Amino acid sequence: MTIKFFLAFGWFFISQTVQAQHVSAYFEKIRYNTATLTAFMAQMPKGGDLHHHYSGSVYAETYLDHVIGRNFFINRTTGEIASPDKSLNEPWATAATLKAEGLLEIYKQKLLAQWSVKDFNPVNSPSDRQFFDAFGKFGSAVAPTFNQGLIELKKRAIEENVSYIESMLTTIPSIIETADLNQYNQLLHESQTARDEQKTMQLLDTLYQAIMGRDIKRYSQRFNDSLITVYHKSLKLDDDRFAIRFQNFVIRSKDPVDLFKSLLLSCESDRNSDLIVGVNIVAPENGETSMADYWLHMMMFRYCHGKYPDLNFALHAGELVLGMVKPEELTWHINAAVHIGGARRIGHGVAIAYEKNVYDLLRYMSRNKIAVELNLSSNEFILNVKDDRHPIMLYKAFGVPITISSDDAGVLRTSLTEQYVLLAKRYKDISYADIKQFVYNSIRYSFISELPVKQRVLKDLDERFRIFEASILRVGKSGKSVSR
Ligand SMILES: [Zn+2]
Repeated sequence: MTIKFFLAFGWFFISQTVQAQHVSAYFEKIRYNTATLTAFMAQMPKGGDLHHHYSGSVYAETYLDHVIGRNFFINRTTGEIASPDKSLNEPWATAATLKAEGLLEIYKQKLLAQWSVKDFNPVNSPSDRQFFDAFGKFGSAVAPTFNQGLIELKKRAIEENVSYIESMLTTIPSIIETADLNQYNQLLHESQTARDEQKTMQLLDTLYQAIMGRDIKRYSQRFNDSLITVYHKSLKLDDDRFAIRFQNFVIRSKDPVDLFKSLLLSCESDRNSDLIVGVNIVAPENGETSMADYWLHMMMFRYCHGKYPDLNFALHAGELVLGMVKPEELTWHINAAVHIGGARRIGHGVAIAYEKNVYDLLRYMSRNKIAVELNLSSNEFILNVKDDRHPIMLYKAFGVPITISSDDAGVLRTSLTEQYVLLAKRYKDISYADIKQFVYNSIRYSFISELPVKQRVLKDLDERFRIFEASILRVGKSGKSVSR
């Protein structure tokens, strides 16, 4: 190595730093001008979107095209949809009939309003119900449109300068029968009421032995081979500038035995595929069963952690707010996800300020690099939490790794770009350097298991920032009139 090399390298490093400083100065100048800030954030590399529900991320128009193209039935009264191969009478009518009557456009607008927050009117329905109900309403159009949806998401990501998505695609279908094990629902509930860890683990172990003998491996492998691998390959989702990986998930509202079966399918599938990188738990956290069985669910994840120690769990936890549940219920979900469920990342974590021993928990998350996935639009719409009621500054103060994600950009009619705009506008103490850190966190704390893929995405992110910052430098020189 020569002095020349060091001089060249040193010059490169200094010029990069100076460039970042200029960008930072420009960013501070435009921070409160929404349009100018949007232009900045749209161009800025955003790394990965780690909290991403597939079906809620596809825009409703895609489902609507499918429904009309396939001539689905639409219920004139409720707006429900039904497959065209059914034979249904009034108030059901096919899309073609509605078109012939000149009513299709009206129904399209009605469906878009039911399947997303478009034209939402809080007088008609509470925002959390509007949000969660949407998924059931477009549900039958989700699986048949995986092709279009995945391509749509990749295209949108590229347009937004997003290089990685970690998406919760679908639950794993199976016809594994467990009705004969239903007595365990009662037994598990009893051991939960007693908070008897040992008994709960014993019961789960017995269930594990019983369920694993029922084709869990075959169904999980079939899911990997026939769905995940097929779509990933045939749609060429990965390329030099983009990668997508998936998380399996279970649904909180299920009965314990059913949920545990689903969790075993998820873990088994994750273990056998590099394309599946984590397991999650979804559905409204404040639902009756979700709340009643929360501890049990965390124990199930703990049990699976013992069986599958290499798997990563990202758990929705603390997507709650005062007034939604009893105050004491706000004090333990994130603690339990971290300390019992073994979460490597926390989804939302909005209720952190109410957690018992909150400072210890924050220190623990910081020390153990347990990242938090923050979803600003989602928290604002569903929980009515924004500005300084949102705990982002609390996480930051304790050095918990922060990532910014979109949750359900389709249902929420938003984008990852908008999340960064909100971040910059609402939190003046979050600097450009912080934001850049959050972007890098979204790759560092991703669950990508193949090291070369992670390294490629990180290296590519360096290059994207180099190009972005150089472009902002040119704007900064020419655009004097961009402040508020
Ligand atoms: Zn979510």
